[in-house]
Amino acid sequence: MRIGQGYDVHRLVEGRRLVLGGVEIPHAKGLEGHSDADVLAHAVADALLGALGQGDLGTHFPSSEARWRGASGETLLDAVLERMERAVLEIENVDSVVVAQEPRLAPHREAIQASLARMLRIEPERVNVKLKSTDGLGAIGRGEGIEARAVALLRERGG
Ligand SMILES: [Zn+2]
Repeated sequence: MRIGQGYDVHRLVEGRRLVLGGVEIPHAKGLEGHSDADVLAHAVADALLGALGQGDLGTHFPSSEARWRGASGETLLDAVLERMERAVLEIENVDSVVVAQEPRLAPHREAIQASLARMLRIEPERVNVKLKSTDGLGAIGRGEGIEARAVALLRERGG
């Protein structure tokens, strides 16, 4: 078994789409970033890379490289899944938390969880998505951004 944790945060700005776990959420603002800024997919990808002992997203997909401009969370996760396959590891389970003051994400939780499972190519029971607000505290509480954390447990394939 190998465990990894991931963390990511992006700024909420006008004129961007808001994509969480591959699901587009209707909102006046979206997350800013070089890629599609899917903060949840990024945190999960970093948790997987951590479990693999292979650095982080920033190392493998530097925002200095034009080819990653607008890259979807799914594209990044696909590349991480390939690394996992080469290491003969598979996902036991993934747990995650999205921390956001706005918009209200509860109505989208199940869709986000199902989408994340599809992107990770595992059964929905192996993925958990939790939603938190910060009670108005701090930058996230002021609606300046959205944060995501994830842990992933990997096991030997077929083990
Ligand atoms: Zn990110």
